[in-house]
Amino acid sequence: MIPFANTYARLPERFYARLPPTPVAAPRLLKLNTALAGQLGIDVADLTAEALSGNAVPEGAEPMALAYAGHQFGNFVPQLGDGRANLLGEVAGRDLQLKGAGRTPFSRGGDGRAALGPVLREYLISEAMHALGIPTTRSLAAVATGETVVRETDLPGAIVARVAASHIRVGTFQYFAARRDTEGVRALADYAIARHYPGIGGYRAFLEAVIGRQAALVARWLQVGFIHGVMNTDNCSIAGETIDYGPCAFMDEYDPGTVFSSIDRQGRYAYGNQPRIALWNLTRLAETLLPLLSDDEDKAVEIAQACLAGFGPIFEDAYFGGLRRKIGLSAEREGDNALTQDLLKAMAENQADFTLTFRGLCNAALLPDRDAAVRDLFIDPTAFDVWAERWRARLALENETAAARREAMRAVNPAYIPRNHRVEAALNAAAERDDFAPFEELLAVITHPFDDQPGFARYAAPPAESERVRQTFCGT
Ligand code: AMP
Ligand code: MG
Repeated sequence: MIPFANTYARLPERFYARLPPTPVAAPRLLKLNTALAGQLGIDVADLTAEALSGNAVPEGAEPMALAYAGHQFGNFVPQLGDGRANLLGEVAGRDLQLKGAGRTPFSRGGDGRAALGPVLREYLISEAMHALGIPTTRSLAAVATGETVVRETDLPGAIVARVAASHIRVGTFQYFAARRDTEGVRALADYAIARHYPGIGGYRAFLEAVIGRQAALVARWLQVGFIHGVMNTDNCSIAGETIDYGPCAFMDEYDPGTVFSSIDRQGRYAYGNQPRIALWNLTRLAETLLPLLSDDEDKAVEIAQACLAGFGPIFEDAYFGGLRRKIGLSAEREGDNALTQDLLKAMAENQADFTLTFRGLCNAALLPDRDAAVRDLFIDPTAFDVWAERWRARLALENETAAARREAMRAVNPAYIPRNHRVEAALNAAAERDDFAPFEELLAVITHPFDDQPGFARYAAPPAESERVRQTFCGT
């Protein structure tokens, strides 16, 4: 029996709609994350295709679709909600949700289903993010439904079993605030504090803590070249996890303007805009909390602004601290931030691959004669040479041994990220040929991102021009 708790189901009835998942024609287990099941204390014998598709609601579950609202590309939608997801309950304090589980009262025009490709994409990328040490929802399983979903073409349907610290979003707070339901906002805040920030001293501290986690999260994204793609407020987790893997992607060559998502025509969610957007989203959260921050409206605004002002410094500390470690600096000295920025600038001007450049620096830090592997990534290799001379002068001021530095760098500079062209190829093989071997191989490689894995070096390589993926799709 899966050891469910159902704390969300004890919140007021207006927080959700109770309903079971809609059964599917022919559930087939495609992938089971046995390691995660073990961490959650779930016996894998309980994780059958029937249970993971929702065809047989597991004992102890209280299935429901959660209510939330959200700003989508800057426009407020007062009611979104789980239109295709069903929360079964909590296991070991974490939500277990089936995404693609059928229509709900929040489905609007949608069919409540998910296609195989996006399900496998979420599985791959969330597990890669976890392996990279970045807070994220996890994937417990992927199940084929045996049904067809109609998108631009007919596609095989699937369901992903998602595990999250919770599914409370900025948009969940907005849902109640938009209805002037201050008691709802308060109940949600109390619940979120108890679950994610226990012991924290009040609503102001709660807001500060969420801001802190989001600032740190976005800094981590930037340090691995991750682009979320749909940073709407309904995709912004109060627990500070990366959530909702739609058109997300990792960049190959460094360019802060990079956008992959087909629906992000204005570049609102471009790589380099992500910190700004996170702050924008957190400002929307702060607005919902105003009645809780003070009875005096002006005072409440003042408090909210003071909290939001904390975002910049927290983000910069995390961002620059991470970049310093990526280039092998353990202590901070004046000029270090400029050194990291000048590397990025040279990379952008020379279309250097983000992941390979930093990984290459690990060896170059040990042996200057290894510079070649990095400099060749730059259109004009002398741009790297100029920077590397400053870098070496700075490294000479460090106390660590070169070998220790290389090891520390290898632990923060991955060799393997889920490169778009590899993800695309794995998804296509599964969807078009029912061939899961490329998915399995890619998953195995990217869940050990810091290991050399000599037999799989091809997965570290950027795409050939013909393999390049220029756009990614939500697939919803
Ligand atoms: P997303 O873009 O996945 O963050 O979803 C935004 C909103 O659209 C959420 O309220 C989803 O539940 C809803 N949604 C997305 N796809 C579907 C679908 N196929 N059927 C019903 N609702 C959907
Ligand atoms: Mg969403």
